[in-house]
Amino acid sequence: MSTNVTRADFDQVMVPNYGPASFIPVKGLGSRVWDQDGREYIDLAGGIAVNSLGHCHPALVAALTEQAGKLWHVSNVFTNEPVLKLARALTDATFAERAFFCNSGAEANEACFKLARKYAADHFGPEKHEILSCKNSFHGRTLFTVSVGGQPKYTEGFAPVPAGIGHFEYNNIDSLKALISDKTCAVVIEPVQGEGGVLPADKAFLQAARELCDQHNALLIFDEVQTGVGRSGSLYAYQEYGVTPDVLSTAKSLGGGFPIGAMLTTEKIAKSFAIGTHGTTYGGNPLAAAVALTVVETINTPEVLAGVRAKSQRLIDGLNAINARHKVFKTVRGMGLLLGCVLTDEYAGRAKDFVKAAEKHQLMLLVAGLNVVRLAPSLVVEDKDIDEGLARFEAAVAELIAAGK
Ligand SMILES: *Cc1c(COP(=O)(O)O)cnc(C)c1O
Repeated sequence: MSTNVTRADFDQVMVPNYGPASFIPVKGLGSRVWDQDGREYIDLAGGIAVNSLGHCHPALVAALTEQAGKLWHVSNVFTNEPVLKLARALTDATFAERAFFCNSGAEANEACFKLARKYAADHFGPEKHEILSCKNSFHGRTLFTVSVGGQPKYTEGFAPVPAGIGHFEYNNIDSLKALISDKTCAVVIEPVQGEGGVLPADKAFLQAARELCDQHNALLIFDEVQTGVGRSGSLYAYQEYGVTPDVLSTAKSLGGGFPIGAMLTTEKIAKSFAIGTHGTTYGGNPLAAAVALTVVETINTPEVLAGVRAKSQRLIDGLNAINARHKVFKTVRGMGLLLGCVLTDEYAGRAKDFVKAAEKHQLMLLVAGLNVVRLAPSLVVEDKDIDEGLARFEAAVAELIAAGK
């Protein structure tokens, strides 16, 4: 009976590639979530930087239900009104002149990497095909995107992987200089490495990457799947840095919980994706586009973006206060509402234990690698939820420390 499912069912019917928490969320509102037993949690995980307006935001519920009563899907054999409005909104608000829609971050990056190769093939020839990305970067889980990603554990066992990919050190200009050449078709960078440990780029590094790409006729791709749509305090993190890419991928926060991804680029580069060169059945479907349009319109206002900065500071101050009392973090870093608490050497490798301790105190958090506890809450998380979340986190930290003594 579907009403009787429990966490134990997961191990019997699901492919074991995830190890979800012990409780099953059944309802959410704002930054609060309830499980099957009615226990209430504070959500500072935000569905991994996805629930940009929290759970069941009234504007998103209205956009989704209104569109659900009109038109769900027609495929790209036909265009639709919501997708054109969304493309207009995104191109008006960014450097981009053209948008391509898909259903996830990995698909958005797949489109970026394919476009970079195609553009180089069109303008310079097949020799110019190398894609350079950063060590420890994350760009998705398709075979091409794990190969471009800089975490070897994600390609182990999946060989042979696509060729023509190189990796340089994040925030290390010399390392990029040593690899880039006229065979490079694109350099891809996360403005803040998310999965890799919530590590922001140095402005000088992004500026140097821009200059090196220009010197070598390579495209600069920013993977803003995690940093995009207001999370940095600007609509996109590139705007915060003042360094403009040629191609940008966005997903996660864009749909506020409804699956959607997009690749944004210029008219000139977009031309290399002529009719028939790339595609997806669901990409830019009316349901996803109607929700994403409402997300973008709601977030891209001075009030909400200023709110992201203020809430960021409130969280940072609170985390630093916890650390002043308990000395478990080396540093608290990140940008806007993508924050990471880097554990001290004493707690190295134990980020997951902090997240589990938080779960016992009815708080949802994330890890980013083995040593960083990550927070990626709703961009409109209420101050009282931040304060209550911090109080629960402190209780969890105290308990974890006490258990270790
Ligand atoms: C999450 C993420 C992806 C992959 O997105 P999916 O929607 O899981 O495919 C790609 N790049 C970055 C930077 C991400 O954080």
